[in-house]
Amino acid sequence: MIISSLDTIIVDLPFKNPGPPSGFGGKEWTTITSLLVRIETDKGIVGWGEAFGFNCVTSTEKTIQDLIKPLLIGCKIETPQDIEEISNMLQLKLHIFGRYGITIFAISGIDIALWDICGKSNNKPIAELLGGIKSQSLTAYASLFKYDIADDTKNVSLRALEDGYNIIKLHENLIEPIEATRNAIGNNVKLMVDVNCAWKEEDISKILQQLLDCKLYWLEEPIWPPENFQGLANLRKQGLVISTGENACTHWQFKEIITQKAADIIQPSVTKVGGVTEMKKISQLDLTKVRMVPHAPYFGPGFVATLHVLTALSPNSEIERLYMDLEQDLYKGLSNIDSKGNIFVPTDPGLGMEPDLEVINSCQRK
Ligand SMILES: [Mg+2]
Repeated sequence: MIISSLDTIIVDLPFKNPGPPSGFGGKEWTTITSLLVRIETDKGIVGWGEAFGFNCVTSTEKTIQDLIKPLLIGCKIETPQDIEEISNMLQLKLHIFGRYGITIFAISGIDIALWDICGKSNNKPIAELLGGIKSQSLTAYASLFKYDIADDTKNVSLRALEDGYNIIKLHENLIEPIEATRNAIGNNVKLMVDVNCAWKEEDISKILQQLLDCKLYWLEEPIWPPENFQGLANLRKQGLVISTGENACTHWQFKEIITQKAADIIQPSVTKVGGVTEMKKISQLDLTKVRMVPHAPYFGPGFVATLHVLTALSPNSEIERLYMDLEQDLYKGLSNIDSKGNIFVPTDPGLGMEPDLEVINSCQRK
């Protein structure tokens, strides 16, 4: 089977924010933007992927079209081994244009689509190709937007609990919203805080006791830069549970995070790290002292691929669900929780679900 065509589609999915307007990367979001990758083979099998993402989709799209497409068309695809060879070929040929960042985001989207194709052609869900479905559903956590204001953060957290979530993650870098939320939700609810690298080590020493008192399930990317692994290792020695990795790419960087004892929890992101292939390689590193809990604030094939990776490779880990009300859904409620706060893993071949073409048509960026 030969790869015969590759298309990219940007979709802007409208949503309602349960708090005041917010966003990431210095931009207010009214839609969730996703870069879809559609690959077709000469046998007519179609695979869907998603490449990171959000504010940088046009850059990633251009990279796929200009740099990857000419290398990919005509490649053979039958087995996961073929996908790994394609990933290695693309990483080697393109590393001079940026080993990490947009280049590997683009490769990630291709890789996910190829796993979808491989699953479909072998009549197995991706999870099965990765070693088997170990859990039918996964515990979800509500991943809130950044609000800055204690009352807003607290109120949206309480709303998430009412909706059925049992675990809350904030994106905040002021101590007041963090403390207010912990006080409001009580000590029985797991609470995480994602700082998105906003602090310096000395900032943390000033609020260390307050952070410890908040009994965080994990503290995510607390310091700048994210590759200051020694700084992260020092924070762990002070009693903080540290997670990191959404901005690390390929298993090579995760090997370094683990070697330097920089994290309790590693968070590879399937649309950024190099796709399912690199997630699989990360799962083969020495994970005896770390837990893999992927970054997954997505609503496209990247989210679905993460479900497969988790159930096969880290079934006791939580699945991230960006907390907002999606108004147009590519996957018909797949990312919604059940009454226990869980999300089900689709079990049909490949990703196990097809994106809704009507939603793609209506939300496609013109
Ligand atoms: Mg994060």
